[in-house]
Amino acid sequence: MFAVDHAATALLVKRRYPSARLAPILVSVQAMELGWVALNYLGVERTTTDAVVHSVADIHLAYMPYSHSVGTAIGAAVLAWLLLEKGFGRAALGRAVGIGIVSHLILDLATHGRDIVLWPGLSTPRLGLGLYEAAPVAAFVVEFIYGIVCWYVYRGGLGLLTLICLGNLANLSFLSPAIPGPEEYLAGRPLLLVTVIFVQIVVTLVLAGMLAPDDPASTARRLSPVLAR
Ligand SMILES: [Zn+2]
Repeated sequence: MFAVDHAATALLVKRRYPSARLAPILVSVQAMELGWVALNYLGVERTTTDAVVHSVADIHLAYMPYSHSVGTAIGAAVLAWLLLEKGFGRAALGRAVGIGIVSHLILDLATHGRDIVLWPGLSTPRLGLGLYEAAPVAAFVVEFIYGIVCWYVYRGGLGLLTLICLGNLANLSFLSPAIPGPEEYLAGRPLLLVTVIFVQIVVTLVLAGMLAPDDPASTARRLSPVLAR
C-alpha cells in the first residue's frame, strides 16, 4: 500500500484510541517501511526493477525478510505493546502502536505481489494477494476508497481530505501502465526508488500529523472537568 494510505490508517487507530497521541501512531503504521528504507540503504534488503518501468508491477521487492515478514511484524508489534503497556503503563498507546505496526503488514498483504515471507530465512511460502501485479488500476481505486473511508471515520477536515486525495492521485501513474509518469526514471535505480518512497513517507506523515490534530471530541472530554469548575 502507498504511503498516504498507510498514514490514513493511523486515523482509524487514533479514532479507536483517542487518548493516544497521533504522532507515535503515525510512526507505527510506517515502522515496517522505515525499516525497509534503512535496510535497503544498508544493502541488507534488496529492490530491483525491470529494464523499463511503466508501473509498480515492474518494480520488485526482491528481498525484504526482516522489514516485511509476518513474524517480524507481529514480533515488533507485541514487543512495542509489552514495552508501552506493561513497561510504561501506557495501555492505550501500547495497543494503538501495536495495531499500527500490524496494520502495515495486513495492508501490504492485501496489495503486494508475492513478496512477504513468514519469517526471515524461510523463502517459501511467499504471501501477498497480488493486486499490484494482477490489477493495478483496481488497486488504485481500492486504495483511494480506503483512504477516504479512514478520513470519514476519523471525521477529518478538508485539508486532510485534500492530502488523501492528492496523495492517491500522485500514485496514479505508478499503478497504471498506460499513464506515463516519473516512475520511468526509476528503471535500474532501485535506491532512487527507496529515496522517493522515503520522501513520500516523511511528507505524508508530517502533513497528516499537521492536518489531523487531536480528536476534537477527546479534547472536549479532557477540558470538560476544567470547564466545569
Ligand atoms: Zn510495506
